[in-house]
Amino acid sequence: MAILLIRNDKDYQPWIDAFQEYDASLEVVTPEMDHDPDAVTMAMTWKAPEGSFKGYDHLQVIGSLGAGVDHLFADPSLPENVQLTRVVDEKLSGDMQEFVLGLCLNHIKNLHFYAQQDREWKPQPYLRVENVHVGILGFGTLGQAVGAKLKSVGFQVSGWSKTAKNVDGIKSYTETELDDFLNISQILVCLLPLTEKTSGILNQTLFQQLPENAFLINVARGGHLVETDLLESIENGHLYGAALDVFNKEPLSQDHAFWKHPKVLITPHVASNSNPPTVVEQIVENFRRMKNGEPLKNTVSSERGY
Ligand code: NDP
Repeated sequence: MAILLIRNDKDYQPWIDAFQEYDASLEVVTPEMDHDPDAVTMAMTWKAPEGSFKGYDHLQVIGSLGAGVDHLFADPSLPENVQLTRVVDEKLSGDMQEFVLGLCLNHIKNLHFYAQQDREWKPQPYLRVENVHVGILGFGTLGQAVGAKLKSVGFQVSGWSKTAKNVDGIKSYTETELDDFLNISQILVCLLPLTEKTSGILNQTLFQQLPENAFLINVARGGHLVETDLLESIENGHLYGAALDVFNKEPLSQDHAFWKHPKVLITPHVASNSNPPTVVEQIVENFRRMKNGEPLKNTVSSERGY
């Protein structure tokens, strides 16, 4: 039995090294290597090109090498009779916690928006953590980790998810309570999975429900945001600005308005990346479970889309 790696960027070496280091007896192959497709029972992928699984008739598991799984469902030829998995990893959560905390502090202290290049000595009023309410849209693995971190430094925090959550000191809002949740979110952090239901959720209607001067942080997927609605809401003064790590089209086109927008801080999808040495352990554990017919860890529901 072999594990097949498929990545759009073909950056295989860190993964092959990590598997080798963890268990040298494992057979790990890539599409470019000479291998027997019938021996492949598990495929671990990141944005596999459409149709990549054709010819692998013995696949039992297809997994995402990251936390997000929208790239799996983007392939209409994704086999139906396989189990789907994703990555849940403390390092991934830790990196996301630090990234969002950095952005929240950057925003409330105006660090990014001082225009140093204009040689202007112009102090701005700033906010204190205890007076700022952060709403986390998508209160799952990463959302809860980020929420707990923000809470620990003194921010007021709420989370919004399909089902109610019980996290110390953080109010949990469910699907039907979106309006109440938005009304108090001075900083809105999107950490939703991209699904049919959440696509385009960051739009004009939602922005209107945020308090005046609210700030958006999107570290989930570009497909959540209606970019023109964001620009309009900043333009008309309702939103203060935004920090965006993800975009509809990545990399961002050279002529995109975000590059030079004074109220939009952009980063190239770097909030939190899978770390091969820590992630291979759970993949190998699932490979073992698959072989023994045991329930897998970190499964994904094709019905829910996440
Ligand atoms: P989880 O599946 O653990 O959490 C998703 C959360 O969203 C859950 O709380 C879920 O609710 C909620 N949710 C989903 N659909 C709805 C809906 N229709 N209405 C209300 N709530 C909903 O995912 P993770 O926290 O692990 O990851 C979140 C996303 O972060 C990933 O899908 C990925 O796109 C993105 N990401 C971005 C990275 C970056 O570098 N920028 C890095 C890693 C991930 P419930 O719990 O009730 O099911």
